[in-house]
Amino acid sequence: MKNRIQGKSMDEWKREHPLLEQIIRTHEVFWTNPQYVGSSDRIITPILSEVDIQDAEKRLLRFAPYIAKVFPKTSETKGIIESPLVKIDKMKEELKALYNQEISGSLYLKCDSHLPISGSVKARGGIYEVLKIAEDIAIEKRIVVETDDYTILASEKCRELFSGYSIVVGSTGNLGLSIGIMGAILGFKVIVHMSSDAKQWKKDLLREKGVTVLEYDSDYAQAVEAGRIQAQQEENSYFIDDENSQNLFLGYAVAGKRLKQQLEHLQILVDQDHPLFVYLPCGVGGAPGGITFGLKTVFDDHVHCFFAEPTHSPAMLLGLMTRLHDKVSVQEFGIDNVTDADGLAVGRPSGFVGKTLEKDISGVFTIQDQELYRLLRRLADSEGIYLEPSALAGFAGPVKLFAESKGRQYLEQSNLRSKMKNATHIVWATGGSMVPEEMMSHFYNKDKAGE
Ligand SMILES: *Cc1c(COP(=O)(O)O)cnc(C)c1O
Repeated sequence: MKNRIQGKSMDEWKREHPLLEQIIRTHEVFWTNPQYVGSSDRIITPILSEVDIQDAEKRLLRFAPYIAKVFPKTSETKGIIESPLVKIDKMKEELKALYNQEISGSLYLKCDSHLPISGSVKARGGIYEVLKIAEDIAIEKRIVVETDDYTILASEKCRELFSGYSIVVGSTGNLGLSIGIMGAILGFKVIVHMSSDAKQWKKDLLREKGVTVLEYDSDYAQAVEAGRIQAQQEENSYFIDDENSQNLFLGYAVAGKRLKQQLEHLQILVDQDHPLFVYLPCGVGGAPGGITFGLKTVFDDHVHCFFAEPTHSPAMLLGLMTRLHDKVSVQEFGIDNVTDADGLAVGRPSGFVGKTLEKDISGVFTIQDQELYRLLRRLADSEGIYLEPSALAGFAGPVKLFAESKGRQYLEQSNLRSKMKNATHIVWATGGSMVPEEMMSHFYNKDKAGE
């Protein structure tokens, strides 16, 4: 029997998880996680704690003067890389019209699409990890101590020091962008291994910054593997491991407390009578996972985190559902991992993220590419906000939460039905502001073309 997956036949898997039938047919689904538990039973993670997030926050603060200096656009926020949270009432009306579904509560967009420096959620994790590497080297070489003014790192002398080190990463695009831009400005040699689905403009932009881009005729997993091998063979070489990196994860996790401040500023309550729902596009899982980790440490049971994946790349969904995590890929279940949502085109999820957050992720839903384009156009028309296709995946969440029986069941079981009028829904917009205009207009027109 060749077609066995971790010892079980496809029929056995389907019997155990009837929803698999729909997933394999690449139909849209809404899955709630039976492993999800309330905080009283939750050990968030034995490996990482709130203290690690605080440590990451402090590191970003130490680097803020440096960031403000080398990226003048961030001087307004004093070198803090953060994005706006905006209320999108008009889009809420659009969703109602499109899907004939009322969303109870208010709807917001977290615009990581407009994060400075690299225009995607990767400006959290990717940049953080590069800064961590730079600081470790600078401290070891006695260039700085933690209490120093880090703007000294912009000096020629420091850039020369960093040029003796290389940073290697495998990426579908956006991670490469954030690591490449940050690494290059510090003076590092950066080598980005890109999968075939990465967009040309991202490769061009990186090369312009002096980054070495190696291209692969295969998917993301092979690009990552090639990067890993290269880094092992070279001295003074750091491999940024999208699938397992705790530093990336912590960089994303800082979003939790930052969001709390933003919500307070907008006078939005989050407590047992005012639930918070967050919908996060998921590729390998690091970004949505880290953000979930950060949010759970801040809001505990009052936040409900759902991940969004393309119907053709439901990697985290399969990993969590079968509990095989990184021991399973979408291809093994006959799913092709072909999607226009390039940031989400991942066939095998991070085992680290899946296992760490097994009890914290409320559920996972999938969305078709064609819907991403439809939503892209509606959001642009109604709110004037332009996102890349991946970044729209979250919008299916609030719709399906109310439309699907599993969603309504979740609300019932969590005792939230009567509280939903006070709920805040945040769709996490993960990228888009750096997409060239011509490309964006192509995305925008895709919707019409498909109808
Ligand atoms: C990378 C990315 C994601 C998902 O992040 P993962 O860490 O891969 O799960 C979502 N949206 C966009 C636009 C991305 O670039």
